[in-house]
Parts: sequence; C-alpha cells; structure tokens
Amino acid sequence: MGKVKKTPMMEQYDAVKERYPDCFIFFRLGDFYEMFNEDALQASKILEITLTSRNKNVDNPIPMCGVPYHSADDYIKTLVQAGHKVAICEQLEDPKLTKGMVKRGVIKVITPGTIMQEKALNQKENNYIACLKEIGEFFYLSYCDVSTGEVFLTQGQEMNQLINELEGIQVSELVYPDSINPSLLEFLKANLKTHFSVIDDQAQASPSLMTKLSKSLTSDQAEAGLACLNLLLAYVESVQMQDLDHFQAVNFYQIIDYLQMTPYTKSQLELSRSLRSQRKKGSLLWYLDRTKTAMGGRLLHQWLDKPLQVKEPLLQRHDKVQSLIENYFHRLDLESALDKIYDLERLVTKISLGHANARDMIQLKQSLQQIPYLNKVIAALRADGQDSFNPLASFDTLVKLLEESLEPDPPLSVTEGNIIRDGYHQQLDKYRDALNHGQQWLVELQQREREKTGLKTLKVGYNKVFGYYIEISRLQAAQLEDPRYQRKQTLANNERFITEELKDIETTILEAQDKAKLLEYELFVAIRQDLSRHIPTLQSLAKQVAELDILCAFASLAEEENFCRPQIIDQPGQLELEESRHPVIEQMIGPANFVANNLKVSPDKYLLLLTGPNMSGKSTFMRQVAYAVILNQIGSFVPAKLAKLPIVDKIFTRIGSADDISRGQSTFMVEMMETNEALQEASSRSLLLFDEIGRGTATYDGMALAQGIIEYIADKVRALTIFSTHYHELTNLATESSNIRNIHVGASEKNGELIFLHKIFDGPADKSYGIHVARLAGLPESLIQNSQAILFRLEAKAKKMDQNEDQQLSLFDQESLDSNGFDVKQKNPVSPLLEDLAKANLNQMTPLDTMVYLAKLQNQAQELLD
Ligand code: ADP
Ligand code: MG
Repeated sequence: MGKVKKTPMMEQYDAVKERYPDCFIFFRLGDFYEMFNEDALQASKILEITLTSRNKNVDNPIPMCGVPYHSADDYIKTLVQAGHKVAICEQLEDPKLTKGMVKRGVIKVITPGTIMQEKALNQKENNYIACLKEIGEFFYLSYCDVSTGEVFLTQGQEMNQLINELEGIQVSELVYPDSINPSLLEFLKANLKTHFSVIDDQAQASPSLMTKLSKSLTSDQAEAGLACLNLLLAYVESVQMQDLDHFQAVNFYQIIDYLQMTPYTKSQLELSRSLRSQRKKGSLLWYLDRTKTAMGGRLLHQWLDKPLQVKEPLLQRHDKVQSLIENYFHRLDLESALDKIYDLERLVTKISLGHANARDMIQLKQSLQQIPYLNKVIAALRADGQDSFNPLASFDTLVKLLEESLEPDPPLSVTEGNIIRDGYHQQLDKYRDALNHGQQWLVELQQREREKTGLKTLKVGYNKVFGYYIEISRLQAAQLEDPRYQRKQTLANNERFITEELKDIETTILEAQDKAKLLEYELFVAIRQDLSRHIPTLQSLAKQVAELDILCAFASLAEEENFCRPQIIDQPGQLELEESRHPVIEQMIGPANFVANNLKVSPDKYLLLLTGPNMSGKSTFMRQVAYAVILNQIGSFVPAKLAKLPIVDKIFTRIGSADDISRGQSTFMVEMMETNEALQEASSRSLLLFDEIGRGTATYDGMALAQGIIEYIADKVRALTIFSTHYHELTNLATESSNIRNIHVGASEKNGELIFLHKIFDGPADKSYGIHVARLAGLPESLIQNSQAILFRLEAKAKKMDQNEDQQLSLFDQESLDSNGFDVKQKNPVSPLLEDLAKANLNQMTPLDTMVYLAKLQNQAQELLD
C-alpha cells in the first residue's frame, strides 16, 4: 500500500483525537459534525447513519459519517446514554474571513454525568456525577448536578455506606482518582452500574470556585473532604470548559443523620422505582408526586431518598401541611400559581452558562410574575397565624426589565432579531424607523418611476441574491431610454434594473436590518448577563418554591386520599396505627376493596410474628407499616385514621429469596448475607421487616434458622420487627419469649373455599391453607384431593406420636412434615367428594351429564381408595 500523505485537515483532526482518545470527536465541517476512522465505524452503527469515506480514490480511504449540526443534540444524547463521551470540536474562526485552514478546537466534552441536552434530562429527576476519594481513614463522596448547580459532600468509614449513597442518587457517572487502590476500583466496578471516569489525582479545580463553594463549611470533617470536592470540580471544569458560576455552596451532610435504608430495602419497598418495570410508575414516589413544578418533583425525590431523623423540622412540615389542608382556598391559589412556574433551577443554569435563549427568559419572567401572587397568599396564611410560612423574595425590578425589554413571544434564534421590544433602546428604534421609512420610500419610488416612464406595470421588488430592483417587461425595456436605469438581471420575460436612488434606499434598509439584528443580539446578551447577578437569589427562590410545592402536594394528597397527621412518639419500639392502608395497592385495587388494618406495638413486645395464608396480605401489611414510618419522616401525613409513630433510624427489609422477584440470581446465600447486615447494623430504634426468610433451604434447616434469627432479634437487637413466616410452628415462640407476639391475617373457609379477609388479628393463624390456595389457582382437582389425603395422614401420624410419646413435639424431630401446618381438625379426604355430590344440581342435568358426572365421582373414589 502506498503511503498517503495526510491532508492538513486530517492532521488537525488527528491532533484533536490524540488529545481526546476516549471521546467521539464531533468535528465541525460547515453545517455538519463529521466523524472519522474508528469513531465513524462505531457511531454509524450506534446512530444508524450512513457510513461513507473520504479519499475514495486512494488505497486506504478514511471511513466517515456525519450528522447535521442543528440536529446534533439527538445524536449526542444517543451516544452519551450508551455510555460514551462526545467531544465537540468547533471552527474557532469564521471560514469566510479566513484564508487556508480554519482553526478548530474542542469547546466541550459531553459525558453521561454532565450532559445538559434538554431531551437527555428527565424534568423531575436530577442527573448526578460523583467523585470518590479515600482521605485518611475515611472515604469521601462528593456529587453534583451540573444542570441545577447543586453540590453535595459526605463521608463514611465503610465503602458500603457510600455505595448505598451512590445507588440512592442513581449516579450517572463516577469519577475516581488515578491513584485509587486497584482492588477498590474493582470492587466499585463490580458493585455499581454506572459509567466510570478517571482523573489525575493532582488535578486542581479553579481556586475561586473552590473558595466560593466551600466558604460555608464549618466542620473539620467537611474541610477534610475538600480534596474530594476539588477532584470532582476539576473534572467537571475539564469537560464543561466554562465557568461554573451557577454552582451552589456545597451541602455537607452525615449519612447517619438521615433515615438509612440499604439499596435493597429501597428497591424492595419500591420507593422510587417499581420492582417489575424499574420505572417510576407504580412506585411510592410516583404515587406521592403531585408536585406542580420540576424542582418540586426533584426535591421530593431527594426527601424520599433521605427521610429526616429530627423531630423539629418534621413537626414544622406537618404543621404546614395541616394549615394547607385547613386553608383549602389558599392552597388552590398557591397551586394554580405554582402550576405556572417553570424549571427555575435549570433556567438559571442556562442563563449562567449563556445557553438561555429569549424563550427561556420569557419562561423566567412568567415564573417570577407568579411570586407576588404566591406572596399574597402566604401573607394571608401568616395573618391567620401560620407564621412558619416565609414570604418569598420578590424580583420586581427584574420582572420589569424582562417585561420592558423582551417581546412576549420571541423566536428560538437569538441572532435573527424580533426579540427586543420597541421603546427599550433608542438606537434600535432608530434602525427600525429607518426600516419602516425605507419601505415607505420604496412605495413612493415605484409610484414616481411609473409616472416618469409611463409604464403602469413597473414594480419594485426584492430578492435575496440580487437585492432590490425595478422590474419591467423585456418588450418595454427594449424601448426604455433612461440613463438612470442600469441593467441588473435578465429573466425570460422581464428585465430588472437598479438606479442610484434605489441603491441608496437599499443600503439604508439592509444596513438598518443588519445593524438592528446585531444590536438586538447585543442587547439580549447584556440582559442575560445582567441576570447573572441574581443567580444565587434565584436559586434560593427555586428551593423555597420547591418546598412550598411539596407541602401543597402533601396537603392535597392527605385530603384526597384520607391521610391523617401522624403523632411522633419519643419512645422507640412503640407504634400505633388505626385503619392503616397501603396507598399504592389501595389505589390499584380501588379504595372500596382495600381492607384497612390496625396495629399496636408496645415497647415490651416489639417482635411481631405474622402468620397467615399465602396471598392473604402479609407482605402488603409489612410494607404499609414501613410506608407509614417513611411518610412521617419526610413530613407527609400517612394513610391511616390514626398514627403514632416513633422516629426510626434504619429500616431493613429482607424478602425470602424464594419470593424475591427483584434479582435474577438472588440466592439463599445473598439472603443470609443481607439478613446478617440487618442484624449487625440495626439498633433498638430500627424497623426490621423480615418476610418469609429461610424458605430457600430444606424445611427444618430453614425453620431452625428462622427461629435463631427471631430469638437473636428478641434478645440482642431489640428492634421493632415484623417477621412473617409460613413456618407455623414458630408461633410457639411467643409463649417462650416475652418480647414476641403473634399476629395473623385472618381467612375463613366457606364450602371448602378459602376467603381472604386481609384483616390482621391477634394470635397465630390456625393453619396455612396451602392446599386451598392451590385449589384457587386451579390445580387439577384430583391432585388437590390427593394432597389433602397426604396432609391428613401426616397430621394423624403427628397426632399419634404426640399422644403416644406424651411429649411436647420439638420442632426438629418431625420427619417429612411440610410446612402446611397440622391441624387435626382438617376434614376427612372423603368429604370434598361428598360435598361435591351434595352440591350437584341433578335437576338441571341431562341424562348424559349425570352419567359423565357419576363416572367422575367414581374415578375420584377409586383414586382415594388406591
Ligand atoms: P402474602 O404476602 O400474604 O402472600 P400479599 O401481601 O402479597 O400476600 O398480598 C397479596 C394480594 O392480596 C395483594 O396483591 C393484594 O391484591 C391483596 N391484598 C393484600 N392486602 C390487602 C388488603 N389489606 N385489602 C385488600 N386486598 C389486599
Ligand atoms: Mg408475601
């Protein structure tokens, strides 16, 4: 192959690619972004665009593909969401003014954690990028949302705590220093599904940004974590390549200050994503979220992720929700104003980064116009004695500026004019005057020329290429003898001319037009820059609005769904719920079909053993208790008629691996590991929900473990616990330990059919009804009857052993007894057959039917006798 000399442009490209080897280079050529070589091969597949080549006529053509620059956002989004980075390489000089090669350079790198393309961001979701760094004996975690400017910093002694945080915030990209311990990196990669990016440990964020963000930090611990924040900011600056003026003061927090839940617990409780679809729909967040604004939605998600553990702010939220319920009309007013408020946080970011167009500014104006309205209602609430509602900062001068300067319905483009209002700027008005006059002059000129030449069809026109002209037919043109007329363009039937006078008018008009556009753009940019001064105050306004929005949403929810105000009990281990409901299931099956339940836990009997048939509602009940606790601790009312709740420090749920639909490979080992985590970390202020654990192994094995776990909790952990079990035998434990109490979900039998009451009662369930559930599920009748016969024999045997040996049956020496309980009152296996016969409606049967029916009965009878 002959060596091909590179063109200067490809040399330029290669130099860029060398600096950004891990990015797709979007190389600006005219109206396109082009990709070359390996980038082109890959991108053409991912983006489903045509692969072509450059240098087609030489031996080694360069693969190439491209996307139009005006629709690049969609392609960028696709690549980035597939986990890639895109470097935007722009022309840095105007090609029209440059001889030879245009200078090009990367102006921005777009990564999963920093993407700002509107379509790539979910309105009500944050998009976080994080950085982890080990400092001394701590791990530090810093994360931010570039689109809102929120910045956080926290620390932990164990990696697991930070992994929990990262999973909680659903981090899109994790930055780690190149000095990281390789085994730690391996651990992170194995445990976190996100995109990883590396940064030089020596990288420095700009000192002014660091100072601004860390100014407010007071604790030594936070100070110690600044090196972690520094790396995060250094990385974001390196890809964003712009001042991050909109970044807000860092929020330093301790993980243990909030209600802690493992990612497993959050996912089992379906807090923000449903188990089945992994989407918001069907989750508690989805159910709760009646917020009107994007920032309210995002803040609610943050609250749900980090419920509080402090009483005062919770009482304050409850107070506000209550007064918003009591002041229905005030709330309606607030809600209708909130509804008109756009995403202030992201608008502010766009303004700060200089991305905002005139429509964004109009959205800002319309949002700010609602503030006086909100303040009026807040003042009314305060006048009623609700002085915990604080008035919002108003932005009257800003609104006035936006009202006076901007057209109410401007175009998207900021360079094509029609943005700035008449009367805002003298010079602009003059240009516009000139434009208007110019139009008038043209009309007059046409009239004059018609009179002078006597040609009635003469007309003045304009076209983009040739500018203004006077048009007459070719026939007439041939006879025209007027030295002022200079030929400009010849068409099939017409001739076009220009005159000195027309030239002058043209210059005035075009100049005025160009100058007006330019001036409009300059004025617009100046207004946008002027707004930058208000960024911090606008951001705190956004937070206040978000909070107000959530509280209104809580109030509406409480009112529409019959929630009650919880009372906070200071004593841990104590809890009382009256007519409590599972709000999501209730909504799914309809309020009329949902059976509300009571629960009263006293501090001395904190471990509840919950029994009841499959499908009776055990899991539902346990989750609704967790929901009541969580809702209380985010400041919401709870779905019950009465709720007295303790402030809980941690919630652990563990669903038996046999029932666990959330994990493909959830094994018994994982189940035990997570059980261990709960037992080790729970305190007497925690809530434990163990749902049928121990089922993933042999019966006795599982039962023995379950008993061991229960006894350990009762003696050592002493946490408020609901332990549901199908090991009916465990209900005996309540008599042995004073801290354990039996409760059960009731069911009743009618004509051999099982009826679920979904009602919680005191005491143990009397059997587990497995066979009845199997019948409901439609298993063959002969199979069901066979099972009943087996159960009967087993129970008889157990009873005989019991009587003969006259000893209390220990749990572990009943061979082959399965978990279906052993109630000796169980009916004789013949009875279903007799019941069937008794119920048969002979009058409605044809003779043939009777024959068939009789044959079936005989069959069953024979099977029983075999
Ligand atoms: P279990 O854990 O006992 O097997 P689940 O809690 O999974 O049972 O509940 C099974 C189904 O029963 C739920 O999907 C729901 O449709 C219904 N259910 C549960 N609790 C109630 C209730 N309190 N009122 C009405 N229906 C309920
Ligand atoms: Mg269950």
